[in-house]
Amino acid sequence: MKGFVRYKVEDGVEFCWCSGHKEYLPCEGFGANSRNKNGKHNYCKECVKMNDRKQKGEPIPFGTVNQFVENQKNNILKNLGYDLEGDVSIHQQFLKKHKL
Ligand SMILES: [Zn+2]
Repeated sequence: MKGFVRYKVEDGVEFCWCSGHKEYLPCEGFGANSRNKNGKHNYCKECVKMNDRKQKGEPIPFGTVNQFVENQKNNILKNLGYDLEGDVSIHQQFLKKHKL
């Protein structure tokens, strides 16, 4: 479907589908694209950067994509007030936060 971006919410974090990574990433990592339903790009910012590098013939740093994904997820969870260092799982913290 044209102009449709897959989307889900997990542990209170919004995830958008990245056509480059072929997986859900925090929507915060996506640029704006008003042509799409959810207002986000089909590719995360990192993929857009990579594609840009490819077009310019610049070398692509390997290993940065997964790190970026992890960092994005962790930063967003931290911003939402989750404790990533503690013994309590994110899922448990989510249930407590939403009184489930
Ligand atoms: Zn991506």
